[in-house]
Amino acid sequence: MQITYPRPRLKMARTTIYRGRIFNPISYSKFEDIEDGAIEVSESGKILKIGKFSDFKKKSAKTIDYSGKIIMPGLIDCHVHLPQYDIVAMDGYELLDWLNTYTFPAERRVESSKLARDAAKRFFYALKSNGTTSAAVYNTIHKEATDLAFKEAEKSGLRIFMGKVMMDQNSPEFLQEKTEESLSQSEELCKKWHGKDNGRINYVFTPRFAPTCSEKLMQGAADLAKRYGAYIQTHLAENRGELAWVKELFPRCKDYTSVYGKAGMLTSKTIMAHCIYLSDSELKLLSKTSTKVAHCASSNFFLKSGIFDLNRTLDAKLDVGLGSDVGGGPNLSMFREMANACNMSKTRYIQENGGANSIDAVNAFYLATMGGAKVLSLDKIIGNLFPGKEADFIVVDASLVNPQKTINNKTGKEVLSQLIYRADDRVISATYVRGKKIYSKN
Ligand SMILES: [Zn+2]
Repeated sequence: MQITYPRPRLKMARTTIYRGRIFNPISYSKFEDIEDGAIEVSESGKILKIGKFSDFKKKSAKTIDYSGKIIMPGLIDCHVHLPQYDIVAMDGYELLDWLNTYTFPAERRVESSKLARDAAKRFFYALKSNGTTSAAVYNTIHKEATDLAFKEAEKSGLRIFMGKVMMDQNSPEFLQEKTEESLSQSEELCKKWHGKDNGRINYVFTPRFAPTCSEKLMQGAADLAKRYGAYIQTHLAENRGELAWVKELFPRCKDYTSVYGKAGMLTSKTIMAHCIYLSDSELKLLSKTSTKVAHCASSNFFLKSGIFDLNRTLDAKLDVGLGSDVGGGPNLSMFREMANACNMSKTRYIQENGGANSIDAVNAFYLATMGGAKVLSLDKIIGNLFPGKEADFIVVDASLVNPQKTINNKTGKEVLSQLIYRADDRVISATYVRGKKIYSKN
């Protein structure tokens, strides 16, 4: 008797072509605009090809048609606080009073695991629906809440860099940790989460800022980050009251940046938020150590912190990305953040009677994509749509912010400008990380 075996089904590697108008940042002042364009993505989520749709071989590929919409790299938020999302847009304070009035009580509340899980779910969903594909996130001091947030981050499909906040001095009693405990809990979380899902989830040691951290804590965080190849994030020179406080607390240090320098916290995997009030020698020290900068214009306006000098920071050869700094900043949309970065540089232009160049939409687009990728040390992996990179991209319906409801009557730069000044989560049709759709509007 002859037996017929079922023939094994050979699974062909199938690629997917996404058709739409492509906006691809090339350099700080240049981006590629392909009107009827496409990107081809492999099954493993890598970009294989970018170009005109007519140049693609469609036979072996599945095509997803986003004609009439823009395909652009996912937006990168270099500085945001998860537990503060529920208290966004509470106006009326400067940094230190705002921390005591809104932030610390909000961070205390997520001690409860149910609240922590719900807050994390809401937060990551909001990131995706705003077109953010990568974010550097602060949690609270609570280990369990941070662990739950990591679980939600893993499920979300987003590329997340996150850590438990560390603070062992000058904090309200309910948020103050013992130094050793803060270090050991952070280390445990780092061991569990750093590098998960092939590097999609990363651990960031997160001493809140110098006033609430002892030298021992900061040094310990720096040592652990080095040992595990993890990241570090903190705040630097955000507000004048904070500067005076740091001077009082660390009288032996030459300046604010040296406080972190002395602790070993200035590295190429360190993200410093704000950096508004820095001397030339501080900028030099940041540049020498390849420390990265998260510029948070919305927050700096909202908390009346100061007017960041972007051009001076870029001239010092520092990598700069944008951060929403929610809840210091009132919105998670990186379009709003790009607009405020432009507005802040215009403020400087006005203050200096036209002596400073203001940035435009193309510059801001670069900062929110490639700039952010550099800040995360991932510019070889994400940030634009070059072949070989991982396919983190968003599909944007820019017609919604054009009164004539089309994207075909404007140049690429004009469409980009309307998006930056008028868009928010309404325009995001879909969000992809590594070629996988993690959010869809409908
Ligand atoms: Zn912050």
